[in-house]
Amino acid sequence: AIPDQAANAQGVSESLNLCNGRKASLSLHILIVGCGLGGLAAAHCLAQAGHRITILESATAIGEVGAGIQVSPNVSRLLRRWGLGKALEDIAVRPEAIALRRYNTGELVGWTKWAEKMEEFGAPYYHIHRADFHKLLYDLAAPNVTLKLKSTVVSVNPDPPSASNPEGPSVTLSDGTVIHGDLVIGADGVKSYIQQVVLGRVNPARPTGDAAYRAIIPTSEMLKDPELRPLLENPEMTGWMAPGRHLMAYCIRAKREYNLVLIHPDDNSVESWTAEASADKMRSDFADFEPKVQKLLKFVDSTLKWRLMDRQPLETWIHSSGRVVLLGDACHPMLPYRAQGAAMAIEDAAVLGNLFSHLSHPSQIHPLLEAYQSLRLKRTADTQASSRDNQRIFHLPDGPEQEKRDEEMRRAMAKEKG
Ligand code: FAD
Repeated sequence: AIPDQAANAQGVSESLNLCNGRKASLSLHILIVGCGLGGLAAAHCLAQAGHRITILESATAIGEVGAGIQVSPNVSRLLRRWGLGKALEDIAVRPEAIALRRYNTGELVGWTKWAEKMEEFGAPYYHIHRADFHKLLYDLAAPNVTLKLKSTVVSVNPDPPSASNPEGPSVTLSDGTVIHGDLVIGADGVKSYIQQVVLGRVNPARPTGDAAYRAIIPTSEMLKDPELRPLLENPEMTGWMAPGRHLMAYCIRAKREYNLVLIHPDDNSVESWTAEASADKMRSDFADFEPKVQKLLKFVDSTLKWRLMDRQPLETWIHSSGRVVLLGDACHPMLPYRAQGAAMAIEDAAVLGNLFSHLSHPSQIHPLLEAYQSLRLKRTADTQASSRDNQRIFHLPDGPEQEKRDEEMRRAMAKEKG
């Protein structure tokens, strides 16, 4: 019953997850809509494969947004291959262990030596600030791509070149500018417009019933408290599980900051990385958690709140024209309960980059997109489903099922601690 990362940590097949240095003999101009973690990773991989990349991003600046994010070995392995190993070591934190506790008593019910277990998958597990992660990928991709900010895509011509459409696919921005390319990638997140173009219908993401408060506190405050200091010394990722709620907490930024993600029933919040919420309301929503949590929450000055959305796997990620395709949250948004949303977007990018390094003729574009989809759809659909499973497991109401879950965790912990 312990929520398990191992299934994801293995990663995509070795033959497909390299930026292999091979350049396509036919170079495309690829338009990537969205400069999130997925869009940037795709820009890097496809530029490495010899293609010309333009990223179109609505935001007016690339800035500091979000909070902590977990980077599992399936992704850190890719990042190391892309030359980011040292930067990750400098800025991210490796959690020594994961501890799972009862919300109200703080009783330890599960514990695993996380760093050691995850190293078995050939790369470390990290905790990082999303903004730092974004900057790493931005600095990696930027020298080889064109980034256009303040560029909201409002329509797409998906058709390949023909007598009546000699310039082929294009996107139109909100200011009327038309930009032509050979291929359009929708990396435009959970509310994706490009997904509507691909499916030919409106298909909104579905609320999952949960929302997340996110807050970051300075560890300097925690170090002064003997009860909180152990959370930092051999940095543990700690989860407190409660009926319908849970709290995940871990260090980021070379242990200078402590990241809190507080999951609770959605009360009509919005889906945004930047929506402010009341810290007092957050404290009252978690007032029945153990005293250690109350101490942590006292340090919170401000909190962000995010409505958690996902969707059923899509029937296709590719427009019938074969020139528009989806990546990341645009096609497979998921609950963050396996910490795999960005991971799956980055794996998508690695696979797409590898496949398009083989391109030698325009007739191969559509088949390569089909190959991408067939390599990715099952893995991402399985991860969407297992993230939903963890919602149920984490949030069991107090009672027989919860007691069974906790008993299984205690047994596994006793075995591990010998
Ligand atoms: P996004 O990051 O949403 O980027 C989409 C971009 O497209 C945005 O910049 C947007 O401005 C732009 N855009 C949108 N529409 C247009 C348009 N029409 N024209 C131009 N630009 C447009 N994942 C993990 O791997 N590990 C974790 O630990 C983890 N924790 C999480 C915790 C929480 C609380 C949440 C909510 C998510 C978490 N995730 C985690 C998931 C992860 O954040 C997302 O899966 C990931 O950010 C998706 O990246 P993306 O590039 O697909 O989309």
